[in-house]
Amino acid sequence: MRLLEQRIVKDGIVKDGDVLKVDSFLNHQMDVELFRQMALEWQRLYADCGINKILTIEASGIGIACIAGQVFGCPVVFAKKSKTKNIAGDVYTAKVESFTHGNVSDIIVSKSFLNPGDKVLIIDDFLANGAALTGLCQLVEQAGAELIGAGIAIEKAFQPGGELLRAKGIRIESLARIKSMSAETGVEFCEN
Ligand code: 5GP
Repeated sequence: MRLLEQRIVKDGIVKDGDVLKVDSFLNHQMDVELFRQMALEWQRLYADCGINKILTIEASGIGIACIAGQVFGCPVVFAKKSKTKNIAGDVYTAKVESFTHGNVSDIIVSKSFLNPGDKVLIIDDFLANGAALTGLCQLVEQAGAELIGAGIAIEKAFQPGGELLRAKGIRIESLARIKSMSAETGVEFCEN
């Protein structure tokens, strides 16, 4: 998606450790009109799939997912990162290692909000090693819901997550796919 690529080139900052900072429009200050354009693109890509639920993970996926929910006209559920050791109650859970912080957290979704028969679109801001997306897919599977696919804003295609999950048959639509990046040369995108 040209609009997002252009914004990354203009405002993205490449940090050490293969981290792209997009705090000025995506992760801290949020360009809601850009989110709407992204959501419209996912809607075009997933037209006629019958999506009736959007699933994301706190914190930075929530803003994008909310606008997507408005465009798709469906509820948005976000997986919570649980700090408690003993997870009790009626929840689906998975373990996710954070790319940016390195720690492992349990993510949970109440069984009330994901059901068999749901057709789920997972939304997230970044795809790197694929841990977050894998965890979210596990929650969908535990619920007996149908995973239609994922909508990712920025995929760092030089990291293994995208290839790994596509090889498992998961449909992933990333709006900007980064082939390589460095502080010196900037960001280079994949052809498609
Ligand atoms: P993964 O689980 O695929 O390794 O990483 C995805 C998660 O880590 C996303 O939810 C995102 O919050 C965070 N993340 C991964 N790479 C980056 C990055 O380059 N920049 C930022 N801001 N977040 C990232």
